[in-house]
Amino acid sequence: MDRGARVLTTLARLLDPLHGVPDATRQRFEDWYRQAAIPQIRYVAFLTMGLYLIYAAIEQNVETDQPFARFIVHALMVPGALLATGLLSFRPGRQTLMLGLLSCAPIVSVLSNLYFNFGSSRFALYAPEIYLNLMWTFAISGLTLKRAMATALVSLSAILLVTLEHSLTPGPQRLHLIWILASFSFGLLSAFLLEKAHKRMFLQQDSLELSASLDGLTGLWNRSRTEAFLADEQARANRYGTPFSVVLIDIDHFKHVNDTFGHAVGDSVLRQFATLLRENVRAVDKVGRFGGEEFLIVLPEIGSHQAVAAVQALRRRIQAFAFDTVERKTASFGIAEYRPGETLEALMARADKAMYRAKASGRDRVEAL
Ligand code: GH3
Ligand code: MG
Ligand code: MG
Repeated sequence: MDRGARVLTTLARLLDPLHGVPDATRQRFEDWYRQAAIPQIRYVAFLTMGLYLIYAAIEQNVETDQPFARFIVHALMVPGALLATGLLSFRPGRQTLMLGLLSCAPIVSVLSNLYFNFGSSRFALYAPEIYLNLMWTFAISGLTLKRAMATALVSLSAILLVTLEHSLTPGPQRLHLIWILASFSFGLLSAFLLEKAHKRMFLQQDSLELSASLDGLTGLWNRSRTEAFLADEQARANRYGTPFSVVLIDIDHFKHVNDTFGHAVGDSVLRQFATLLRENVRAVDKVGRFGGEEFLIVLPEIGSHQAVAAVQALRRRIQAFAFDTVERKTASFGIAEYRPGETLEALMARADKAMYRAKASGRDRVEAL
């Protein structure tokens, strides 16, 4: 990458910490963010609804201009949209409608504020609703930066249009425009910084989770993560009846490597062996280090017959591979296909038994049980 491109990437990362990450990571962030925002959206919607009802009651006492229309908007429409938003937050399948209503409520209140008050001397009393509205949209509502920006831009455009329309009317009312622009820019900045912080937090949590799932020496999945994959496959098999198989692998006479060449060479053989495993299985197969020089591969969607063919090919690749220093190394393989309803312990016990049978029959062999 040349210098210009590097500077651009750094700049883009400063604006968006998720710049350049795979689409799947971005999607996971969006799902995570939406889930995390649900309680916020719920509480904010209910609180704002309550405040609007109080506002509507006070307004009915102080304002004689268009009291009925004001009542419809401030006691029914806006609180109604917020009530529906709060209730929909309990329904995971209705998030699109919930976000739509959450975006509409502030627009309705800004448009009605302008309609009721702009151009009159009263506007000074009512303008704070607009400032708060913009800050609320950006920093409090729980909308994502993109959605909040779209919502606030609709409101801001309406405000600017109305101001231009009244540009011939001199008066202090145009002073409000600066407070409105300030609310918009403070709101935008806080939403931007908040979202950036959330993205950073997500990436950190994601990389911590990943490193807690990997084996330090080989970079394969570690034992607990491999067991989690096994449990996922078991659940899937029990639910949909899809088969899956496991392969337990133990390197033959590995102690000899350590004893003859030392531990460092042993470690290097383990790493090369791990790479061989990873490169000779399908993308969907999960390769884990189970401990020492034992490995486990989870093979989704195939029974033991197909697994034996795949593992025989893998065994031959290992047998033919020239490892650094030690040259040839072989391994023994035990295959077991999951039987619907059995425990993972029972499955693993069969794989273990098959592997020991491979050892007992001379090593460098594949056995299935
Ligand atoms: P077999 O064919 O019966 O499996 O013989 P083996 O020598 O491989 O026997 P065993 O499986 O009992 O030996 C495992 C050896 O693996 C013992 C241990 O010193 C070595 N080992 C376990 N973990 C590591 C590691 O992380 N690095 C190195 N270098 N050696 C390890
Ligand atoms: Mg062993
Ligand atoms: Mg061994």
